[in-house]
Amino acid sequence: MVRTRIAPSPTGMLHIGTVRTALFNYVFAKANNGKYLGRIEDTDRERSTAEAEQVIVDGLAWLGLTPDESWVKQTHNIEDHKNAVQVLLEKGCAYECFMSPEELEVMREEQRAQGKKIGYDGRHRNLTAEQKQSFINEGRKPVIRFKLPDEDKVVWQDVVQSEISYPINELDDFIIMRADGTPTYNLVVVVDDHTMEITHVIRGDDHINNTPKQILMYQALGYSVPEFAHIPLIHGPDGKKLSKRHGAVSVLDYKEMGYLPEALNNYLMRLGWSMGDSEKFSMDEAIANFKLKNVNKGASNFDFNKLDWLNAQYLKEADNVYLLDLLRPIFKAQGKELTATIEGYLTQSLGELTARAKKLPDLAEAASFYFNEPPFTLDEKSAQAVATAEAKNTLTALHSVLAAENNWSHDHLSDVLNRFVTDQGIKFKDVGMPLRIALTGTTNSPSVTHLLEVLGKDESLKRMAIMTQ
Ligand code: GLU
Repeated sequence: MVRTRIAPSPTGMLHIGTVRTALFNYVFAKANNGKYLGRIEDTDRERSTAEAEQVIVDGLAWLGLTPDESWVKQTHNIEDHKNAVQVLLEKGCAYECFMSPEELEVMREEQRAQGKKIGYDGRHRNLTAEQKQSFINEGRKPVIRFKLPDEDKVVWQDVVQSEISYPINELDDFIIMRADGTPTYNLVVVVDDHTMEITHVIRGDDHINNTPKQILMYQALGYSVPEFAHIPLIHGPDGKKLSKRHGAVSVLDYKEMGYLPEALNNYLMRLGWSMGDSEKFSMDEAIANFKLKNVNKGASNFDFNKLDWLNAQYLKEADNVYLLDLLRPIFKAQGKELTATIEGYLTQSLGELTARAKKLPDLAEAASFYFNEPPFTLDEKSAQAVATAEAKNTLTALHSVLAAENNWSHDHLSDVLNRFVTDQGIKFKDVGMPLRIALTGTTNSPSVTHLLEVLGKDESLKRMAIMTQ
């Protein structure tokens, strides 16, 4: 069974690139009836915080990317990590190295002076028991290093990048346990992925250099080696690695800016993978069509305009009740009280208002006139537009026409308004503008027919009467 995982470190925000990695892991697992798991890589105790962990959990939950099983915390597996180090020592695949940081620096200086490769040269590989004891007597604490095998290269078939061949002489006997007894990243990842029975390690291509070390440890520990798929990083519109200078990189920023999770998921999936020519597709469609090997090898550039475009499409299609739930906290933050009446208006009107919005705050702005109570405070332009005798007469005449109407459907109201315009011998805007101001207190709103329908007969007539007083 396919088992994938997302393994973020809780040391800051949840980066948009991590989310895309999570998405690919999720979609690939689902596409193969497998499981998508999560591990919090919190072994760096100094940099890991509980808040950062919560940000990861909440951010992924917002996007529907909560792992299928409960989150694994790396620090909870510390005994397994230490045991694996013991196993490697016993197998002769690892050894103690007592060199001090100063001695290592001297070694590197010499290497530099002689134009040699810089790196640990394995000089403590074969210490005798006496040599070790004398280091211990000096008060030295050893690190544990992995003993590189006597081979030329590590080769793997990367699902995204194709075959990767890594010369072993580019590595040195790397540290797997620090002098303070804490195991290092490359070791713990291998042990945890093995314990969690991960079959596919799908992660950013910034980890390619770790993979040879990890494969060597899988082999040394006698674990089966998973498939690796290294996906390219996300770049900014200028083709450089995405960073704060390009705009938001934290997922919560996107939530705050008012993007819908569906739109962001769609956009991030599309960034690095394509489903034919479609720009817009659901998660289910992505799952039905996803092939890991079709993920692009090259980096993709983040295009904020495209994300805005997609978000606008999702807003237009969204269910009004769903939209209202998303808008509620925005209105609350603006101190706007969502009464049952206003909620009723919005439930009918949001579909119409989404035509004017790219993101949720735009939609909240477009809907804000529904919170205005008559008599309205008008801006100068609106006040002038309704102050004329013509405007007042037109509104009064329309008031009596509408008062006689019992059919308040959109189509009928539209007919009534058109007939009114013809009968009065005026242009539509001659009635449209004062009517809009009378109904909303603003000049920027959806069609007047829609407004009449949403506000209902009594409220519409009341507002028109107030304006003609
Ligand atoms: N904790 C690592 C990171 O956040 C995960 C590496 C991996 O997926 O193996 O980059």
